[in-house]
Amino acid sequence: MAVLYHSTRNNDATVTASQAILQGLSTEGGLFVPDHIPALEKSLTELSKMSYQEVAYEVMKLMLSDFTEDELKACINNAYDSKFDTDKIAPLVKAEGAYYLELFHGRTIAFKDMALSILPHLMTTAAKKNDVKNEIVILTATSGDTGKAALEGFASVPGTRIIVFYPKNGVSAIQEKQMVTQKGANTFVVGIKGNFDDAQTGVKKMFGDKELAALLDANGFQFSSANSINIGRLVPQMVYYVYAYAQLLASGAIGDGEEINVVVPTGNFGNILAAYYAKEMGLPIKKFICASNDNKVLFDFFSTGTYDKNREFILTTSPSMDILISSNLERLIYKIAGEDAEANAAFMKSLNTEGKYSITEEMKAKLADFFGGYATEQETADIIKKIYDNCGYVIDTHTAVAACVYEQYKAATDDNTKTVIASTASPYKFTRSVMAAIAPEKADDEDFALVDALSKLSKVEIPDAIAEIRTAEVLHKTVCEVEDMCKEVKGFLGIN
Ligand SMILES: *Cc1c(COP(=O)(O)O)cnc(C)c1O
Repeated sequence: MAVLYHSTRNNDATVTASQAILQGLSTEGGLFVPDHIPALEKSLTELSKMSYQEVAYEVMKLMLSDFTEDELKACINNAYDSKFDTDKIAPLVKAEGAYYLELFHGRTIAFKDMALSILPHLMTTAAKKNDVKNEIVILTATSGDTGKAALEGFASVPGTRIIVFYPKNGVSAIQEKQMVTQKGANTFVVGIKGNFDDAQTGVKKMFGDKELAALLDANGFQFSSANSINIGRLVPQMVYYVYAYAQLLASGAIGDGEEINVVVPTGNFGNILAAYYAKEMGLPIKKFICASNDNKVLFDFFSTGTYDKNREFILTTSPSMDILISSNLERLIYKIAGEDAEANAAFMKSLNTEGKYSITEEMKAKLADFFGGYATEQETADIIKKIYDNCGYVIDTHTAVAACVYEQYKAATDDNTKTVIASTASPYKFTRSVMAAIAPEKADDEDFALVDALSKLSKVEIPDAIAEIRTAEVLHKTVCEVEDMCKEVKGFLGIN
């Protein structure tokens, strides 16, 4: 049976997978959810003999029903190719009593590449299927990581353009360098004289501007979004959990059907939700261990049943998890509310007006498979050092939050189930914090000196993504006032 999608805030209107990908968000603000999740058609043993691309096809064909076999395979083969620095695409590394699923072997050395390298292909295929003649213009505001991953994904993809706004003084030096050196004639990167919220608000305003939409349409363009709530990002993330299980089975680390745990360093709740969906598909997962940093709104939610964003926003060394509204959690809330769109809409309204909501005891009981924990800044640094000292393996700050919460989980439960930790970024992406944990005496060294030092310590080659930006030419120099964001968009599209 074909999977159709409907909103978490309205069960009635359904769309196909390709329409959901094009639209991103449902019109009334809800998120698209599948009306059911089919069971895997291949046995786990069969999957254990497959390549990453083959597993991707087995998983994605079930969720993206209206894509043909040829279409989907073309998307997969265009995405998971030599852009990744290993044939395995997502290798598993055993260290310190766990299996680290390295999701950072793509172009921007963070896990966003896993989905953003295929999203452009899914989107252009979806546009063709739905007779969209316009060129798709991806509009993104970024605080650093998503912008670069989206740029790399969409660069030079025919039929698309991508425009990224970032806060001129609000991203790290390496992050800015990564973005402003982006190649591809269809890319446009603009620094704004404001903060991330200003960039986000400006982008949202353009998305909601009907006159602008009409003007774009008249010129053969339409906006779309590469945001993490797009199901075109969620579905490709289910793949690597199935692949990780298949690899464990292939190596003999687990038996067929044996349950595993997964630990996920969490921000917007997309990555861990993909694992939850993979279980619905039949993957034997026992516990979903949700790891937060000092912004521990999810830890509090799992402990108390109350989600409360009314708190101080804390800047940490794991910035991609510095989030107070985990958008994808709405899909889980909808699920545990018994797929009741009205009940879910009421919770989200309360989040919007009061900044919080409390779920019922009945709903809380359905969260038994989740374990929430959090790591402080000191604990995060300590575990990076400990794992390096014990086995020479260097993890990044986000992965360290997960490793720390996994230790807490083991201490609290004595559960010795084999466990996969989602390793979401290369330590090279957060070199300064990682080196501060391992070699504090180098604290005053400049960025690239630290990169060289990390390479010596970890015996891991410096990834191309870092090596390239050392010498890359700055190609994007536009800086604008917040009020002029729309003018810049029109200028780039030539519709002034
Ligand atoms: C985005 C990101 C996360 C958080 O993932 P979510 O899907 O938003 O929960 C964790 N680590 C890194 C390095 C990221 O870039």
